[in-house]
Amino acid sequence: MRYLAASVLIFSYLIFCWLCWRQYRRKQGVAVAGEIEGADCILIGYASQTGSATRIAQQTAQQLEQAGKLVTLLPLNQIESELLTQTAKLLLIASTYGEGEAPDNGNRFIARALRGLDAKSLQHQQVLILGLGDSSYDYFCGFAHQLQHALHERGAHFMADVIEVDRLDDSALRHWQYYLGQLSGNTHFSDWSKPTYEKWGIVARECINPNGVGASAFHIQLQPMQGEITPDLWQAGDVVEIGPCNSRAAIDTFLQRLGRPIAPELLITRSLSISDEKLVELKTQDDQLLLESLSELPHREYSIASVPSEGSLDLLVRQVRDANNQLGLGSGWLTQYAGVNQTIRLRIRANPHFHAPADSCPLILIGNGTGIAGLRAHIANPARANGRQWLFFGERSELGDDFFSADVHRWQQSGRLTRVNKIFSRDAPLKEQPNAPRYVQDLLMPNAEEIQRWVADGAAIFVCGSLQGMAQGVDAALAKILGADELESLADAQRYCRDVY
Ligand SMILES: Cc1cc2nc3c(=O)[nH]c(=O)nc-3n(C[C@H](O)[C@H](O)[C@H](O)COP(=O)(O)OP(=O)(O)OC[C@H]3O[C@@H](n4cnc5c(N)ncnc54)[C@H](O)[C@@H]3O)c2cc1C
Repeated sequence: MRYLAASVLIFSYLIFCWLCWRQYRRKQGVAVAGEIEGADCILIGYASQTGSATRIAQQTAQQLEQAGKLVTLLPLNQIESELLTQTAKLLLIASTYGEGEAPDNGNRFIARALRGLDAKSLQHQQVLILGLGDSSYDYFCGFAHQLQHALHERGAHFMADVIEVDRLDDSALRHWQYYLGQLSGNTHFSDWSKPTYEKWGIVARECINPNGVGASAFHIQLQPMQGEITPDLWQAGDVVEIGPCNSRAAIDTFLQRLGRPIAPELLITRSLSISDEKLVELKTQDDQLLLESLSELPHREYSIASVPSEGSLDLLVRQVRDANNQLGLGSGWLTQYAGVNQTIRLRIRANPHFHAPADSCPLILIGNGTGIAGLRAHIANPARANGRQWLFFGERSELGDDFFSADVHRWQQSGRLTRVNKIFSRDAPLKEQPNAPRYVQDLLMPNAEEIQRWVADGAAIFVCGSLQGMAQGVDAALAKILGADELESLADAQRYCRDVY
């Protein structure tokens, strides 16, 4: 019995030591041997010189873990080929310093982990890269782009272009958080930093697909509450960050759950989706503590569909619903709950990677659904009156979902749009011709030669709309038409730009 008791004691002590060690290693951000969770696990790699990338990587890991995802967090140099090839989702946070150089804890990754991997090794992998840098240097985010290039050569797919963060710009980090929401399926995280909003008001709002096949989409026009729209307030390609508010119904439901009174106006911008356990805690707290326990609602981003000379800031917002058919936070606020003339908290975010190059450079604009918003601003841009523009657009039904068709028609008549190709998936002759084009990406191959001619003439390609399906399909079609290397050179020269969500 004594031996047995001693063995149990020693065994328990060893388990206790192992748990402490594991906890310590986790805090250090190091994956513990045997804990790498395989394909389901999101691998987060970071390369940090001053600690900023490490901090953001840790915040990223924390956010994904809170959403129930398995993550492995490692400095880039500690990622081995074997782990990399097992990973289906890879997030990289990479600083650049000097003239495009890699930080010390990331400088061996390309030569070591990627050596020996061929062009198909990572074709199952989805990658998202956050580049930290300083735009006053020539090779802004240079190391992040080197990583993209090296992974691309091994077949990896990219959820979006490298998200470039200039001197830790908050808005770019909020944009990164958007993708973390998409990856984890939880879009209700608080922002790491709160935008400084201005007050705008909705002056007009119209559902532009009342007979549409898909969810309702609204054309929304906004004006600043103070001052007026000046020519340089934004550029085609920019986006807005909106600070949504809770609907009155959401506040009432929360008050019912809470079971005690608190002034409803105090809850307007607080996140009210909380668990029953948390609610029990809140019931006993005074108002101030309760408000401190409820985080701020997160922002939402929308592409600006107009240019300042048109006199209003226009958006095209599609209603999104959750599994209980409740309207999404941002789309519900903008399309239904906010009244016309009610204050909208809004911030314009410059989006330089989606700004068009020279005025006379031809543009090929490709988008689906609400993606036409980001493309419309480029077509409407008076500064581009001399450049050729070609629009590819896909939606569901021509009768119900042909967004901005009057504008497109007018621009075709005036010659501002040289070519227009549209496709509507639900109108396609499915049964008779199962291989007939259905989606916007299917329109590209039949126009391959003309696209090659436009690109040879210096055209830039702008893609806006769905991340799932469309963006990948367009990328694959363009790689076939132009060659993967040429497409990558275009991206490097800012002639292949994507704003996909
Ligand atoms: C750069 C950028 C530009 C954008 N431009 C536009 C635009 O011009 N027009 C526009 O309508 N949207 C645009 N979006 C998407 C927009 O920011 C919101 O993600 C979208 O309105 C849904 O937010 P929500 O708060 O209404 O829904 P949430 O409250 O976030 O989500 C409600 C439910 O819908 C699901 N969900 C969330 N987003 C989507 C989605 N995109 N598709 C399907 N289900 C979803 C969630 O998982 C959840 O179950 C853009 C996003 C980015 C990053």
